[in-house]
Amino acid sequence: VSEAARTYWCELAWLGVAAAVADVQVDVRDGRIVEVRPGVAPAPGAQRRRGLTLPGFANAHSHAFHRALRGRTHGGAGTFWTWRDAMYEVAEQLNPDSYYALARATYGEMVLAGYTTVGEFHYVHHSGDGTLYEEPNAMGDALVSAAADAGLRLTLLDVCYLHGGIGAELGPASRRFSDGTVAAWAARAGARRAAPHVRLGAAIHSVRACTPDEISEVVRVVDPAAPLHAHVSEQPAENDDCLAAYGRTPTAVLRDAGALGEAFTAVHATHLSDEDVHHLGNSRSTVCLCPTTERDLADGIGPAGRLATAGVSLVVGSDSQAMVDGLEEARAVELDQRLATGRRGTFSSADLMTALVGAGHRSLGWEDAGGIAVGQRADLVTVALDSVRLAGTEPAAALDAVVFAGTAADVTDVTIDGVDVVVDGRHRSIDVAADLTSAIDALTGARR
Ligand SMILES: [Zn+2]
Repeated sequence: VSEAARTYWCELAWLGVAAAVADVQVDVRDGRIVEVRPGVAPAPGAQRRRGLTLPGFANAHSHAFHRALRGRTHGGAGTFWTWRDAMYEVAEQLNPDSYYALARATYGEMVLAGYTTVGEFHYVHHSGDGTLYEEPNAMGDALVSAAADAGLRLTLLDVCYLHGGIGAELGPASRRFSDGTVAAWAARAGARRAAPHVRLGAAIHSVRACTPDEISEVVRVVDPAAPLHAHVSEQPAENDDCLAAYGRTPTAVLRDAGALGEAFTAVHATHLSDEDVHHLGNSRSTVCLCPTTERDLADGIGPAGRLATAGVSLVVGSDSQAMVDGLEEARAVELDQRLATGRRGTFSSADLMTALVGAGHRSLGWEDAGGIAVGQRADLVTVALDSVRLAGTEPAAALDAVVFAGTAADVTDVTIDGVDVVVDGRHRSIDVAADLTSAIDALTGARR
């Protein structure tokens, strides 16, 4: 059987409806799904997938280098702002080689968890002293190579980051995040080369890092069809500063600059007014929730139910890499609403899966990924149902069981664009744990 044409037979598969479907044959050619047939016996030579097979997961918001902070910042007290100082210390150590090594291992962890695309919110694009590398996109190129070597698709969201806060100068650590002006940012980011596994998008770091005029300028110079992401209202202090300086909320600043719309994703959107929710919904914008990070940093619980009712499409991201587990992010969207509202069932398992797969891929500019359907990219993520966590699951309840109790450790096989990248729980080309250890030790100076 050639790599170009192959057949998978899935014991159970999620085809986008309320429950999983049994005995599904998926024919793949040249990385695309060409036929999906439920209720058939396995064809000779078909690759059998036991358990529940899902479309590829999209990690719509990632800072790959934050993986080096795992376990170093979560215990004890501190605030978002003290966490940020620890993050700056790691950022200062990065160069294209160390960034490549850390990102490749981190992306390997994502693939093992079932992610098939990552949206990298990329702001460490200058050298440590704030100047351009000889190759101006050397740091972005490191991410592009890292994703290719991990077998992961990448949407590179090159971030415009010009100030250290509203009315504040850049600090020594954040100097390397800045191009100085919107025009210089657009010139550098625009010089980037595309690749088959890469989509290019843009990002406004936040209203803390760009003024309203600069945000308007970003909106004028970017491709209006390409993904545009921004951090929005993660912390109450951002809203307070923005209201004091501009008399408007961060969402209103972005709306007035023309940023909202179908290509726009607001990341976090934790502290929103009713008017903010209305504007995001009216403009058909997307909101990326990052629940495992938001709880770690005590950000708060975003108004997911109100956003969905207003017409906002919800997606999820691993953000600070406090955890890399798409199933945990997805279920937290519903479970956090239960805690916040005292009611269950704001989101069904199918709604949560949609956020993790199809909607997530759309927010990253991959309209042709995130579904097991003819014409889609051949991404297949299989979750075992015989692990200690999921043993005893009834086939009819497989989707609920996986969404509410499955973990990244239950993902056994991951196919991306028709290539089997994870087989029997192992990444086929990377020893992910060993590579994470060496990359993180090199950055943090840890000795063992
Ligand atoms: Zn972020």
